Amino acid sequence: MCAAIRLREAGVRDITILERSDGVGGTWRDNHYPGAACDVPSHLYSFSFARNPDWSRKFSPQSEILAYFERVAREYDLLPLCRFGVEVVRATFDDAARLWRIELAGGEVVEAEVFIAATGQLNRPYVPDIPGLDSFDGTTFHSARWDHDHHFEGESVAVVGNGASAVQFLPHVARHAASLTLFQRSANWILPKPDREFRPWERFAFRHVPGLERAYRFSIWARFESRFSLMRRRSLFRKLFTALVTPGLQKLVNAGLPREVVIPDYPMGCKRVLISNDYWPALLKPTSKVVTTPIARVHPNAVETADGVLHPVDTIVFGTGFQTTKFLTPIEVRGTEGRDLHEEWAKGASAHLGMAVPGFPNCFILYGPNTNLGHNSIIFMTERQVEYLVECVVDLWRSGARSMDLKPEVMRASDREVQRLAEDTVWVTNCHSWYKTDEGRLTNNWPDHTYEYWRATLRSGIEDYELA
Ligand code: NAP
Repeated sequence: MCAAIRLREAGVRDITILERSDGVGGTWRDNHYPGAACDVPSHLYSFSFARNPDWSRKFSPQSEILAYFERVAREYDLLPLCRFGVEVVRATFDDAARLWRIELAGGEVVEAEVFIAATGQLNRPYVPDIPGLDSFDGTTFHSARWDHDHHFEGESVAVVGNGASAVQFLPHVARHAASLTLFQRSANWILPKPDREFRPWERFAFRHVPGLERAYRFSIWARFESRFSLMRRRSLFRKLFTALVTPGLQKLVNAGLPREVVIPDYPMGCKRVLISNDYWPALLKPTSKVVTTPIARVHPNAVETADGVLHPVDTIVFGTGFQTTKFLTPIEVRGTEGRDLHEEWAKGASAHLGMAVPGFPNCFILYGPNTNLGHNSIIFMTERQVEYLVECVVDLWRSGARSMDLKPEVMRASDREVQRLAEDTVWVTNCHSWYKTDEGRLTNNWPDHTYEYWRATLRSGIEDYELA
């Protein structure tokens, strides 16, 4: 949406948005589980050019965020550009015509001079391949495919996983189910959520006091930016902060939760730091229990753990996250001379500034490799990427060339730098996270401050590309 808005403002007239589902909103359309919200304050989790003084709370719920993006789509007249219900299966660069041919399921081919891949990092739900799962008699679903017709009343419910999504939906399950069993593989740092409703006079002031909402938005960005020091491998700030929050967690241990459930054995920030005010109370209910022994298999009416214990359940809800490191799959992407993007990325995805890959001219990836954040708003990164790609497109036209292909040496230098910076972050330490491949290469996160990304994307760097 952001790319379409900005490209049109730059004078591009022929834009088509290909979307598999039936509406805009991406992750906010797919993730409608009870309790879904964003853990980035709403004033920062919105476009800088479409600010919203009317957010109801500091951390607004999913329905309000989705409504915001739907409104932006309407106000910027994007819907006529959208083709809903079409799935891209293949994108091939035609060397002779210097065009992308984008093939849809069903065989139709859409031609484009520029191909922007904006499928994100978290759109393909991951359900672990647990032996016996097929034989389960009850209901199962993933948090990103929530079944609102299913009611938990009177049921024994298993929740698998305790990441950012589970922390949000588990309190709902605990409220309604007769009993809840959480299967937790490893602990997360879960801290209080500084959330509250905005008062009517605050919303009035955001709308009417010149510059106030913008200043507030900037203050959130600056405060979050300072949290990057938590992500450094050797961070005194993290040690102090950990010491500050541990007594609060210790109280939960004193209240009866096992220590290994509450206090992670890896440094804070290695996985996303979670915020919630109702998660721990939900686990402290007498009808809730946490199992930390790994799941061995599923039976028709029970989950069996590796110690041979059977846990009878009626429903299993998977909060097991997404397939994150195989960017752009299952779309087949072929660049110059038929090269296969997924083969190029066999050892882990990488792209210059997360956007450009040599051999794939005029192709830009949004929220691509190494552009996720652990400390600030992804909307900021998206806007930077769009500013960069718009500048690339404009510079390409001005140059009179038809295609721009990133120079391999630029890619190598860029990748070396990202991996060098990654070595200095907490993400490469001893935790299992969706930020890295099984081999430990950091493929998902930007390992620096966002203002460094802002700086790096200020110019198109057309000299970094071969023009043809
Ligand atoms: P996630 O953070 O990847 O969490 C997946 C959970 O499932 C983890 O607890 C993981 O355990 C567990 N798991 C995976 N495979 C398992 C298995 N075979 N057996 C047992 N447990 C297993 O996924 P998510 O919670 O959906 O969140 C993904 C990302 O989406 C977040 O990090 C965040 O960026 C985004 N998100 C954001 C918000 C927001 O408020 N902005 C909300 C929801 C999601 P381990 O930890 O041991 O691997």
